[in-house]
Amino acid sequence: MKQITGKTKLLGVIGDPIEHSLSPIMHNAAIEKMGLDFIYVPFRVRDLKPAIAGFAAIDLQGFSITIPHKQAIIPLLSEITDAAKAIGAVNTVWKGESGWIGTNTDITGFLAPLRSHAPSVAVVLGNGGAARAVVAGCAELGCSEIHVVGRSKLQEFQAAWNLSALKTHTWDQLSDLLPHADLIVNTTPIGMSPNFDDSPITDHHAERIQENAIAYDLIYVPNPTRFLKQAQQQGATAIDGLEMLVQQGAAALEIWTQQEVPVEVMRQALQNHLGLAHSN
Ligand code: NAP
Repeated sequence: MKQITGKTKLLGVIGDPIEHSLSPIMHNAAIEKMGLDFIYVPFRVRDLKPAIAGFAAIDLQGFSITIPHKQAIIPLLSEITDAAKAIGAVNTVWKGESGWIGTNTDITGFLAPLRSHAPSVAVVLGNGGAARAVVAGCAELGCSEIHVVGRSKLQEFQAAWNLSALKTHTWDQLSDLLPHADLIVNTTPIGMSPNFDDSPITDHHAERIQENAIAYDLIYVPNPTRFLKQAQQQGATAIDGLEMLVQQGAAALEIWTQQEVPVEVMRQALQNHLGLAHSN
């Protein structure tokens, strides 16, 4: 067990609720492997402003932010990066010379498993918080068309972007979009544990998925989801949400420690915790 002393540096994650966060598992596994005298602690934060002031007072080195504070934290920071501005949310904060600096590593996390692919027509299912990172990621990939499918606040979503490739649609248009897509991303929680039998698409939709398409589900439990199984049956390549989770965490830990991060150790720690089979 790790020996905590007066010299141990503190990192953390804030959210409410926080007890289900997987971040302490992967970060502490990596910290141990790196031989660093750090500890990463979950904090249930209900009142954001005094918590952030307190973090400065106790010399916290940096922290992750999860629901519901990803947007609300922005006015409490001295600076945010272009990635955080594009998404309108911060998930990683570190200490700068004149205060806290915030960024969003979800784009890096989303893009990591797509490095060897070059999709041009993306269909994004859902238009909530994670969809914003996905749209920013698709724009960075150079997708010529990014079609976002949602059931509410579509005009608001479209207006938040100055992106000619982006178009928003209602779900009844999905059938027409799928045959042209080479990347289909589920950003809805449909199919997430314990609703293993649910999928954001019907079997009829699935038949319209191209054989050379990539189906990407941001959900990591179950693994694979029904959506990924439907796509695989059409010959499509499946990517699950675990890699995005690992890679957004690795990008954050690299910012805090300024060192190369053992990504495989983080991945294995999560796979062990979730009871998933190792892919290697
Ligand atoms: P969110 O902000 O609540 O967005 C969810 C989106 O799904 C919204 O557009 C919502 O529409 C839509 N939706 C929910 N239920 C639906 C239904 N029954 N039919 C149609 N649309 C529905 O949530 P989020 O933060 O973006 O997270 C979404 C998912 O991504 C979660 O499963 C989360 O665990 C996962 N995620 C994974 C990672 C990762 O690292 N792998 C990172 C972030 C998120 P309305 O707004 O109309 O309700």
